[in-house]
Amino acid sequence: HVIPDWTRFVSDMQIFFDQAAKDTSGQNAQYIPVLRDANPDLWGISFCSVDGQRWSVGDASVKFSLQSVCKPVTYAIGLATEGTDFMEQWIDVEPAGRPFNTQDLDPATQRPFNASLNSGAIMAAGVVASGFPPATEWKEIVDHVRAKWQELCGQEDVGFSMETFESEKATAYNNFAIAYNLKGRRGLPRDVDLHKMLDVYLGCCSIEITAEALSVVAATLANGGICPITGKEVFPALVVRTVLAETMTCGLYDQAGHFAVEVGLPAKSGVSGAILVMAPGVFGFCTFSPRLNAKGNSVRGIDFCKRLVNCYRLHIFEPE
Ligand code: GLU
Repeated sequence: HVIPDWTRFVSDMQIFFDQAAKDTSGQNAQYIPVLRDANPDLWGISFCSVDGQRWSVGDASVKFSLQSVCKPVTYAIGLATEGTDFMEQWIDVEPAGRPFNTQDLDPATQRPFNASLNSGAIMAAGVVASGFPPATEWKEIVDHVRAKWQELCGQEDVGFSMETFESEKATAYNNFAIAYNLKGRRGLPRDVDLHKMLDVYLGCCSIEITAEALSVVAATLANGGICPITGKEVFPALVVRTVLAETMTCGLYDQAGHFAVEVGLPAKSGVSGAILVMAPGVFGFCTFSPRLNAKGNSVRGIDFCKRLVNCYRLHIFEPE
């Protein structure tokens, strides 16, 4: 096993879990009722090693919407189906140092800076949607993405919340502005329908999952794209390498630099309170706690990650 003494490891994780639980700072995302009204005290963690050892604690089987945790996978689907060159034509891979909802695009090329920002993820949704015949409904495309999530987590149940989707859509003024901005400045891939692109993006944000299932997704990414539970290759290794480098540098938005220094692992956060973390070649894990800091990242999740790397040599720039 990659972690020889799993029992010892998980007893340490339990300690960090309890310590991080004491941090009740931050607040739930406020922009839609489902997130605003979620129990802020929820706190769960789940681990899955690349050789399939698993451990969960707390609210690891509570369902929540993916929100921005959806972004690396939509991007990976684009890379896998359209190739790197096509993706680069539409989305750059540079950290932006800007908040998740920025309207800014790269001034030289008018592309989104990266696929972790809303702008880049909306464009990635556009790329994926543009690969389907124009008459395809958004929901069919989201179901295709959802099937990929299902494979990534080894066939555990992956749901969809129409309630989340509808409130997202009713309040998505900023995302509409981003979409029009994309369309107006550079145009959209294969001239895909702007509303369909947004529906696919908001639909991907509304996919529902648990921390338990997400730990397997993280482990699949930490394992070069091969799901440790099913043994199936979900994404090619090169696609996963790109996605991990992108999440390492951009996944936590304008906190990505600090997270790289302090934790040193590729990770993707979402406003529902999840953080998906990959320790390449070792394990993946997911933390879930709805209270967010000012940058939209889960307070307890970050706290836990720091405790973990202070005790275990997982920071990718730490010598053996
Ligand atoms: N649905 C959210 C939005 O588009 C996702 C943002 C996030 O999770 O950071 O604003």
